[in-house]
Amino acid sequence: MRSRLVVFNTLSREKEPFVSLRRGKVQMFVCGPTVQDYIHLGHARTYIFYDVVARYLTHLGYKVRFVLNITDVDERITDEAKRTGMTPFALARKYSRAFVEDMARLKADTICRFEPVSKYVDKMIEQVSLLIRKGHAYAVDGWVYFDISTFPNFGKLSHQSSRELSLRPLELSIWKRNLLDFSLWHPRTLVEGKWDSPWGMGSPSWHIQDIAVTASLLGPQYDLHGGAYELIYPHHEAEIAEAESLTSLRPFVKYWVHTRLVNIKGEKMSKSSGNVYTVRDALRSYSVNQIRMFLLSRHYRRDMDIRGIDSAAKTYNRLRGMAEKCRRAVGAASKEYDEESLQHFCDAMNDDFDTPLALRALGEGLVSTSNTRSATAAARKLASIRLATSILGVDLGLG
Ligand SMILES: [Zn+2]
Repeated sequence: MRSRLVVFNTLSREKEPFVSLRRGKVQMFVCGPTVQDYIHLGHARTYIFYDVVARYLTHLGYKVRFVLNITDVDERITDEAKRTGMTPFALARKYSRAFVEDMARLKADTICRFEPVSKYVDKMIEQVSLLIRKGHAYAVDGWVYFDISTFPNFGKLSHQSSRELSLRPLELSIWKRNLLDFSLWHPRTLVEGKWDSPWGMGSPSWHIQDIAVTASLLGPQYDLHGGAYELIYPHHEAEIAEAESLTSLRPFVKYWVHTRLVNIKGEKMSKSSGNVYTVRDALRSYSVNQIRMFLLSRHYRRDMDIRGIDSAAKTYNRLRGMAEKCRRAVGAASKEYDEESLQHFCDAMNDDFDTPLALRALGEGLVSTSNTRSATAAARKLASIRLATSILGVDLGLG
């Protein structure tokens, strides 16, 4: 029997059958980088994974609309700019450009559309104003805070009780009504990065930025929201509170999907600890195909370690050699697919995007192709493998 796609939803903590909100269409959004530096392999893992998700959903016949934001307004950018002597805008521009280049080199930009959040500040002001009018937010001394007491479902995505939440107060400030209130707008002292608003000159907070982009491009509800798992709380929790308070439509997002970390020798990769391996560094030693193979060689809901990259690169070389031999023996791949080989691959992908299993199916497919006597049958198998590699974006040289 043919399998159907199931997706692990952070909201329910269960694998759920994937049914899009609108037939034949999927709208998805992924939290992109804060452009204060070059992206590292942890970022690359996240963006390559959702690129594969979008490619696979397209293969299943969905028309996919995929937006990835670029956070080019943020205190971290201002801080980094101060440190380097650049202006925040120049710094954000430099690293936005580098990000777009890196994504192209990683072949992770085929379906997604990049959106800098600075284009949507008017929308953010409109949304914050509406939240205030509806009684979900309050302005004080140039700040605007979301009033968490008006949203009883806060904590549902991260599965935290109100007692657990109260142990992790957000954004300490004397102006806040509740410990967990988070800012939507803040006053800025810097000349650059300030916008005129009903609350004075200032900037939108990080948590309000995504819903301005998605409300403008995807509407009030959409299918899938992705990002690294450390964004679940408070970032994504805050988004749900804002969006559902604005529209009263539930759920704001149907499937919440989160990727895990890439560690360096057991330690988390992060800019703050200086423990990073940038995409640019990786591309000096490995090919794009080897990097994609490595990052897809572990299930997205499990942490992985950079130590595995050499062995993944070797596996790639071996598969490429096998593919080359098959291609020489079989000739051109057929226009028709071998349904069974393809189904093997799809069964793996249908089980919550199990890319390690899908990669194994590729290897098994190549062995089976070289053992097939009939040239027609072998050419069909090769066609299925070629299709699978195009979904994973790992090119084995099959044309
Ligand atoms: Zn975000």
